[in-house]
Amino acid sequence: MSTWTTSSLGYPRLGENREWKKALESFWKKNITHEEWKAEMKRLRLESLAKQKQRGIDWIPVNDFTYYDQMLDMSVMFNIVPERFGTFSDEIPDSAYFAMARGSEHAQASEMTKWFNTNYHYIVPEMEHAVPRLTKNIPLEAYRQAKQELGIEGKPVIIGPITYLKLAKGYDESSFAELLDTLLPLYAQVLKELKEEGVQWIQIDEPSLVASFPEKEIAHLEKAYRFFAQEVPGISIMLQTYFEGIDHYQEITSLPVAGIGLDFVHGWKKNINSLNAHGFPEDKILGAGIIDGRNIWKSDGIKKSVDIQTLQNAVPGDRIWIQPSCSLQHVPVTVKNEAKLDPVLKGALSFADEKLDEIKDLREALADGNTALLQKSSDAVGALADSEWRTRARASEKENIPSSRKASFSERRGVQQEKWQLPLFPTTTIGSFPQTKEVRVARQNVKKGTISQAEYDEFINQKIKEWVDIQEDIGLDVYVHGEFERNDMVEFFGEKLAGFAFTTNGWVQSYGSRCVKPPVIYGDVEWTEPMTVKESEYAQSLTTKPMKGMLTGPVTILQWSFVRDDMEEREVTNQIAAALSKEVEALEKAGIEMIQVDEPAIREGLPLKHSEHEHYLNWAVRAFRLATSNVKNTTQIHTHMCYSEFQDMIESIRAMDADVISIETSRSHGELIEAFETAVYDKGIGLGVYDIHSPRIPDTDEMLQMIDRALQVLPPSLFWINPDCGLKTRDIPETVDALKNMTEAARLVRKRW
Ligand code: GLN
Ligand code: ZN
Repeated sequence: MSTWTTSSLGYPRLGENREWKKALESFWKKNITHEEWKAEMKRLRLESLAKQKQRGIDWIPVNDFTYYDQMLDMSVMFNIVPERFGTFSDEIPDSAYFAMARGSEHAQASEMTKWFNTNYHYIVPEMEHAVPRLTKNIPLEAYRQAKQELGIEGKPVIIGPITYLKLAKGYDESSFAELLDTLLPLYAQVLKELKEEGVQWIQIDEPSLVASFPEKEIAHLEKAYRFFAQEVPGISIMLQTYFEGIDHYQEITSLPVAGIGLDFVHGWKKNINSLNAHGFPEDKILGAGIIDGRNIWKSDGIKKSVDIQTLQNAVPGDRIWIQPSCSLQHVPVTVKNEAKLDPVLKGALSFADEKLDEIKDLREALADGNTALLQKSSDAVGALADSEWRTRARASEKENIPSSRKASFSERRGVQQEKWQLPLFPTTTIGSFPQTKEVRVARQNVKKGTISQAEYDEFINQKIKEWVDIQEDIGLDVYVHGEFERNDMVEFFGEKLAGFAFTTNGWVQSYGSRCVKPPVIYGDVEWTEPMTVKESEYAQSLTTKPMKGMLTGPVTILQWSFVRDDMEEREVTNQIAAALSKEVEALEKAGIEMIQVDEPAIREGLPLKHSEHEHYLNWAVRAFRLATSNVKNTTQIHTHMCYSEFQDMIESIRAMDADVISIETSRSHGELIEAFETAVYDKGIGLGVYDIHSPRIPDTDEMLQMIDRALQVLPPSLFWINPDCGLKTRDIPETVDALKNMTEAARLVRKRW
């Protein structure tokens, strides 16, 4: 019998009831003092550590906690603070820390962007003019606190120099080596102080290594870790990767570190192949990420113990750490308080605390050979698998839904022009109108039951009518009903489709204090009843202008949900697409013959490895087509995407074969427009002519400039005029004024053509 070691990579910071978010926001609003906030942060941090200790995890991460973002912590530790937030000779004050995250009166916030392929967003370090120095050894403080307060021998976690720099901006590639040289001594100083304090293991995260890491950058990696080995001899570094398998297995496992952490969930195939082909160095620990840190499902314990035995063929058990595949910050805290879920579903769920329990159970079973606990988890997984939610016949496979339109775009164009009789440069909006307090309160009231469904429906109709009148007054060409009945783009549909469940407390951090509670796709997705027809039909009855039906696309619904893990994402997406195609059919039947299917998240799903992009884009595009192809030639399909980084995706967007697409453009200063200089786009297209994220009302001239620029590269006969995105976050006067300026811009530009 060998002994087994367990470890974790990071714990959610939110608290069981989002105490972290609440404290942070109260502090920002000055409802609590700096001291009160700090005290609450400490309490939460210790509570989380204590829970991990209770579960007997051997290597508990410290310094995974943060006041906002772990990348921002690194920036502040190394004084990578842009000048506009002030210059500091000592520690960086919390006021500057939060100004970097959120902006201040005097300085625009730092950019925020997605952390690899997760829905977490980090603050992008700005290297321009940076004068790095060590301001404070933050991980050392975290280590001391855990030790003093709870007697925990913690494993400090930091983001490694390669990943940190690769995610930073404000330098060109040629100065990477030079910047690395300035950072390495600071990292070494941090490590040295930790070692002197008695720290035994340090986890250095290098997730960049999984994302098509270029061969030529390996030299940087080797340099960095050789430097640490040389400067801080005897230090035990666990070099941690996650989210995928690593490409340069031999080089990475030869680095002078004491352990290598690999993802054996999302990177199982690649990593296990490398392990079998090349073995594993005898002087290292293997951090075996075998419990999925990205998803909320309990794993089949028996199957996991077999996985570990497979690993053991290459590495003896006493050199394996059993751990989650990545930090648990990507899953909610605990299933314990979920009182409303069906027991079979609840039994198959596992959030952070339960995942640590799974690791504990695995350790015990491996040590004493008693598999009873593992069997229990296998049974729970099996019960969901055998439930009728997952064994019903599958819609997308049984029915033959077409994935191409009946006619080509050029043919459709003629019949659509005839039917719709739109002017040159038609004007429209993206879907939502201001979600005022009144709208939100009405929704809460119907949920609580203080108003009846009929009263609520009446209220929604009133809003729709109000905005049909406003659109008429503004003089738009194509109307929308305003989406007043929708809480959220995905939740609204999830609540009406079969196969979705909603947790009470399943929150995860998206960025800063902003949390999301993704729906759970646990069974076969099916259309059961019309979801949007009532409102669209009513709206259309009020006007002779075209009223766009409004749906969220299959890929976006998938991306913004927790998805069952017994089926490929592609297949789940096809199920959603099949369900949406029934909604499209129902809308068409009800006389709604312009239908917009939003896919803002299509780019978010791009795999980390370039070699997998094409495969993903193919199935994602096909899913959109499944949802939208079963319509008459005269029915006009629209789509919308938010972010403008589509330069490398124009071919795929074209392949979606929407009659009209609208894309956000103004925030990116027209970068997208440049892309159309070389790429061909020959279907209807509206490049957003003003930024809806700002309360500023752009004037007509500004919009005209944007339009003129776009018309240099796009055919005028296919060009639409619309804002960048939905208007739900704006207030009413802003919206009306901006749209009036927009229709005026359209009038002026029509005169010229
Ligand atoms: N139709 C949605 C709206 O207008 C689109 C939102 C989005 O793209 N994120 O709100
Ligand atoms: Zn948008």
